[in-house]
Amino acid sequence: MNANGLGLHIVLTGAPGCGKGTQARLLRERIAVPHLSTGEMLREQAQTGSALGREIKALIDGGNLVSDEIIIKMLEKRIEKDDCKNGFILDGFPRTLPQAKVLDEVLTRRGITLDAAIEIQVPDEIIMERILGRYACMKCGQGYHDKYLKPKVYGVCDNCGGTEFYRRIDDNRTTVQNRLVNYRALTYPTIPYFESKGLLICVDGTGAIEAVAKKIENLLAVVHEK
Ligand code: AMP
Repeated sequence: MNANGLGLHIVLTGAPGCGKGTQARLLRERIAVPHLSTGEMLREQAQTGSALGREIKALIDGGNLVSDEIIIKMLEKRIEKDDCKNGFILDGFPRTLPQAKVLDEVLTRRGITLDAAIEIQVPDEIIMERILGRYACMKCGQGYHDKYLKPKVYGVCDNCGGTEFYRRIDDNRTTVQNRLVNYRALTYPTIPYFESKGLLICVDGTGAIEAVAKKIENLLAVVHEK
């Protein structure tokens, strides 16, 4: 927590498709701190069409990680912004052990302590089905799923009334398999790291979205009281 006792600094982690983004968006409403998705930051950069953007796009589309150097610079710049002064939810960062260690250094320099690293656990078979069926509203980013979360009115976003939707290019079977391999090799080592710091909280992410959100909220209430 901050010195003023406000806000939470949280890492949401877990394999691709475990629900980090969905849960981060719900949590942001409840604890009123910004949701920082490094994937979204990178997709925005990729869309600029710059040389760096093209390099990032090729890595994302292949299911590979962007270099620690690029992502760390991007994240540091983002958490300097005013809206992060009372906390944040990190979604998709850190994704390597060096990133986790730099995060530690950056936060220590600012007098901030991380409150929790929440690992959302979902088996691989479920992940594939979740990712291959997901899509989002072009206008507001609200996420949907072909089978599990359809808009109330076909073709119309529940949240903003938008009628155009998109699927991520990296949400295909081959790329997801590569993302899972990278998750195990590069990101998973951050889990024992957070555990060794007493920050790890594991949540079963296989239930309904609201049920998982409730579990996270209850666990965070305990952290907040400490
Ligand atoms: P996400 O939206 O979190 O699924 O991220 C989409 C893609 O962005 C990942 O598959 C990586 O290619 C890239 N990415 C996001 N966050 C990071 C990170 N912390 N380090 C390296 N690459 C990242």
